[in-house]
Amino acid sequence: MPNKYFYINTIGCQMNVYDSEQIAARLVGLGYQQTGVLEVADLVIVNTCTIRAKAEQKAFSFLGRLANLKIKNPGLIIGVGGCVAQQEGEKILRRVPHIDLVFGTQAIDRLSLLIPKIESKRCRVVDVGLTEKPVRPAARPDRRPDGLVSTFVTIMRGCDNFCTYCVVPHVRGREVSRHPDRIMEEIRGLVQSGVKEVTLLGQNVNSYGKKEGLCSFPELLARVNSIEGLQRIRFTTSHPKDFGSSLIDALKTNEKVCDHIHLPVQSGSDRILNRMNRKYTRELYLDKIAELKDTCPGIAITSDFIVGFPGETEADFNETLGLMEIVKFDGLFAFVYSDRPNAPAVQFKNKISEAVKKKRLQTLLELQENFTRMKNQALVGCVQPILVEGTSKKQFSGSINHPQSAVQWTGRTSTNKIVNFYHNDNPQSGADIFSGKIVLTKIEKAYAHSLWGKPVEVKSATGGRKGEESYAA
Ligand code: SAM
Ligand code: SF4
Repeated sequence: MPNKYFYINTIGCQMNVYDSEQIAARLVGLGYQQTGVLEVADLVIVNTCTIRAKAEQKAFSFLGRLANLKIKNPGLIIGVGGCVAQQEGEKILRRVPHIDLVFGTQAIDRLSLLIPKIESKRCRVVDVGLTEKPVRPAARPDRRPDGLVSTFVTIMRGCDNFCTYCVVPHVRGREVSRHPDRIMEEIRGLVQSGVKEVTLLGQNVNSYGKKEGLCSFPELLARVNSIEGLQRIRFTTSHPKDFGSSLIDALKTNEKVCDHIHLPVQSGSDRILNRMNRKYTRELYLDKIAELKDTCPGIAITSDFIVGFPGETEADFNETLGLMEIVKFDGLFAFVYSDRPNAPAVQFKNKISEAVKKKRLQTLLELQENFTRMKNQALVGCVQPILVEGTSKKQFSGSINHPQSAVQWTGRTSTNKIVNFYHNDNPQSGADIFSGKIVLTKIEKAYAHSLWGKPVEVKSATGGRKGEESYAA
């Protein structure tokens, strides 16, 4: 049988990256091989995201560009999966005539039937069935890239929170958690294949296991913490309404759980939080942050913000800026509000103009830049344990003391800050002597989005308590 190749373009969040692994495993099962070269593919899958209007536009623009490829190779099969597929269904076939397959977020398992049907009948197929009954996330396929240091593990899917701006519950279905034994098996397998750090994924990890009567999220963290050979644990996302003392304690007591929490607040105004259906107030959020900082001093806190939610006044926006001044986040993701189909806020009056949204976004990002720089600057002179993920794409360009074009390494602090460094003993050899190791690194320079350091010691095992013990070099 001649070789058949598939190409996947993944747009959007880590959930989609995870789903693309599942899709790839099904295609390999059908005799396809993965390629990174679009032009040689017999099957192209676009795994789409619809969280914001921009992500959806990106998907349609890529799909449009595939028309020429289909003209050159009429046998090419083009499939659209993910959240846009779920949301738009067969409308996509009308809008993009060269598409053969539209499959929803719960149809990945059925690809093994759908693709052969298209191959043999050359028909166009739509499968976007979304059951109200939660669909249990499948285990990760057994395809792990060599040298992978850090990876994501889905612990739950879907969402029951129905924030009024958000499309996730409508395209991903109801929340459902995986059994802890399956999660443990998957992580043990990953560790055996060399993975050192996992990020546990869910839309609201705080409600992990509650519906199914499984263990709680803090209990899951304790179990994962006991896995030998695993060095670091991260998780995302935590919803402020369900975030509380038991998780704060788990952050403190489990030495492998990193010193970083992502706690999206979205707005600093109670009026807007209420209209967003976030189910917490500004005061409650700030109280939880205070408890967190008190119990875990030095923890890095990041967040998500939406600016220009329908009806957001200058006073509301100033409350958001005020909350940022109080918390002083280590970093944040900020988005301009965009209407999403099926999300209740589409119907809300008093939409904010694009110009005002843009201006508010810029103001917010400028304010945050000061805090990010300040936090990064405070680390200069400290020694930080870095989990090295590999060589950096940007290569060290040399200096008077160091040879030109030496290898530059990249890793992260427990607080999730990127640190790049160059090492004297390894000029240009290219040998992978650091990946997956904890390297104690003295921070020499702070930039807006990363740090520059000098390695002072390589640790063979874990870097101690939170990997954060530090000493003067
Ligand atoms: N489940 C997480 C939570 O509750 O925060 C995050 C979900 S979502 C994938 C990631 C972020 O996208 C949200 O935190 C929000 O800031 C942003 N977002 C979601 N819907 C949006 C919309 N309609 N317009 C702009 N930003 C949006
Ligand atoms: Fe969307 Fe809200 Fe669920 Fe997050 S918690 S996925 S923002 S509905």
